[in-house]
Amino acid sequence: MRIVDLRQRTIPISRYADTTLPSELDTGIVALITDVVRNGAPVIGFGFASLGRYSAEGLIQARFAARLLNAAESDVATADGTNIDPMRAWDCMMRNEKPGGHGERCVAVGTLDMALWDAAAKIAGKPLYLFLAERRKAAATTGRVPIYASGGYYYPSRDIERLTDEVRRFLDAGYTHVKIKIGGRSIDEDLKRIDAVLALLPNGRHLAVDAMNRYGAETAENAARALSRHGLRWFEDICEPLDFALQARISSIYDPSIAAGEPLFSAEDARNLLRYGGIRPDRDVLVFDPVHCYGVAGYLRILAALREGGISPLSCQPHGGHLFCLHLAAALRLGGCESNPLSFQPFGGLTDALTVEVGTTKPPEMPGIGFEAKASLYHVFRSLLDECQ
Ligand code: MG
Repeated sequence: MRIVDLRQRTIPISRYADTTLPSELDTGIVALITDVVRNGAPVIGFGFASLGRYSAEGLIQARFAARLLNAAESDVATADGTNIDPMRAWDCMMRNEKPGGHGERCVAVGTLDMALWDAAAKIAGKPLYLFLAERRKAAATTGRVPIYASGGYYYPSRDIERLTDEVRRFLDAGYTHVKIKIGGRSIDEDLKRIDAVLALLPNGRHLAVDAMNRYGAETAENAARALSRHGLRWFEDICEPLDFALQARISSIYDPSIAAGEPLFSAEDARNLLRYGGIRPDRDVLVFDPVHCYGVAGYLRILAALREGGISPLSCQPHGGHLFCLHLAAALRLGGCESNPLSFQPFGGLTDALTVEVGTTKPPEMPGIGFEAKASLYHVFRSLLDECQ
């Protein structure tokens, strides 16, 4: 088994289902081509940079792709040489990288790591969640995962009308729990958005809000006091992610669940969050994004750090809202998983055939991650291959 080629590109994406609305985001895609043949064609692993941070194309180009392509077979393959060993390949990518200074490096490595796991599961002929669970020697999993629909960004016009339309579409699709954005406008305006969405839901336990780390000390306190009476599912990404003192201050005045961890990228960050951020193991939620945390190897280290701090995997609901995180939630028996059914297309959400049954779903039962089962997404990945043939 050898990795014979690696191709990548940056792809613009939008927060909105209506892609004519301004968004200015992108993500990076990669195709990792192996010399292993299945069904008459080389096995190709696909990966992307998850959502909410930018493509790390430059770093992949400058360092990480070369390390994989120039590696000896024994550095990236299983002992019998028949498959990729994604953990060995991860070590190979991280060779000569110093601790700390995660920057965007963690996204570059996470992007390639996704493609390594996709290829390895395809070579093994198994869905990623089963492949990973077996590798972890975990007990058999049904694969069923609680998921919630994420979206609710501010619309530039007719905001509440479009927001409630969006939430109705989530509910019509079988989702029972949703998450919307706050923190970008005054708390009074945000409370109007929250009330409009709550009118569509059974109660506050079905709605989480995400402030995208926009609050400072004063606005965070004001928001926490205003939100306390709603009994929301959780209050996410409150303040500057490394301001653990402010995070702890808010948890001392906000009794319901808080979600944190999305803009933190390492086990050391997770330990500091637990030491200094006022995280409460009995109610708070950890939303680290596995792709932005150096991929599976990095995310497993974070789960181990959380476990040491008394946090169960059931308190983890990875950020991302796409198929890769759904597989990880199933394999690692996490408490649930985000889904982006309308935002960040074609990367967000499920495959064309997967359905949501009362707020739960299962990863696709095909080898790898299953990007091939989402026509619009597979079309994007295929473009990496077509242009070079
Ligand atoms: Mg968030």
